[in-house]
Amino acid sequence: MHNSSRFGKILFLSLIFILLTIAMTMTENTKKTPEHHLENGTFVNTNGTANNKKLKELWKWMTGKKETKAIPIEFEMVDPDLKLINQDKSFSITWIGHASFLYQNKELNILTDPHLTNRASPINFAGPQRYTKPAMKFEELPKIDFITISHNHYDHLDLKTVKWIAKNNPDAMFLVPLGLKKWFLDKSINNVIELDWWERHIINDTKITFTPVQHWSSRTLFDRNQTLWGGWHIKNNHHSLIHLGDTGYSDDFKETFKKLGPVDLALIPIGAYAPRWFMQFSHMNPNEAVQAFIDLKAEKAIGMHWGTFILTDEPVDEPPLKLEEELEDRSLDAKSFITMIHGQTINLSED
Ligand code: ZN
Ligand code: ZN
Repeated sequence: MHNSSRFGKILFLSLIFILLTIAMTMTENTKKTPEHHLENGTFVNTNGTANNKKLKELWKWMTGKKETKAIPIEFEMVDPDLKLINQDKSFSITWIGHASFLYQNKELNILTDPHLTNRASPINFAGPQRYTKPAMKFEELPKIDFITISHNHYDHLDLKTVKWIAKNNPDAMFLVPLGLKKWFLDKSINNVIELDWWERHIINDTKITFTPVQHWSSRTLFDRNQTLWGGWHIKNNHHSLIHLGDTGYSDDFKETFKKLGPVDLALIPIGAYAPRWFMQFSHMNPNEAVQAFIDLKAEKAIGMHWGTFILTDEPVDEPPLKLEEELEDRSLDAKSFITMIHGQTINLSED
């Protein structure tokens, strides 16, 4: 009798265990995988597209350049306003060059896609070279609280730069796209949080949300789209900003406005757009950048991703000129969407 009741108890518990396992597997299976996550572990854009440019097309672009080859020119540079930058509760933005900004929102010091070395390449003797030097030196950076990385392309993620920052700011947090954390851990940079689109991280009073844009990722020939790409929306009680990283034009900007509301300042890429047949998918021209500005309903915008590296075929000083034309054509205030001088610091309290 005793034995049979024990047997019954075991049978009953086993049954419960089996049912629980089935229930858990079912929840697991019914949990919807986001549409931009493919089964093979790679990612696609919100409209289902992936950059499908083949090596053949890259070769065609590189060898068949009929359009004017970009000629380096020397841009004016100014020294960053270190007095303002080092003030307590500084409220400012400094353009270091390309997609790198130092943004201070009265609360935190934030670096976006920091690149403070000479080349945007996996090797140090070839690849896109800077023709405008970084407008801030490593030693000029204030204490950094967090760093946002838009994606893993070499002009946005520079190994030497992130290593220096991590070493000299042991408490700084790197916010990176989904799938990219491992790259940092492999480099012994351990303060890293990776986010999927629309996921949010909060530091003090600042809320940081990762937003979708139309782009792609790769660091080697074999890792295309294995890590995500996107923009960073940073908001506290004083100010909101979005850094769009690298992006072609898509409906993502309208969606970002719908989900997160208007921003005070948008950092929008305006360069690396020629030739269009090759670049349109991944980079906006100034015309599309103005449309993005309108879609985001941003109060102000700064054009970035130009004037620093020669990546594509347009003349290097063309993006700001085209931007001005476009604003005029649409009867928009030229002061609403500006470009900065390399090194310039804007005092956002006065803006
Ligand atoms: Zn890119
Ligand atoms: Zn880029």
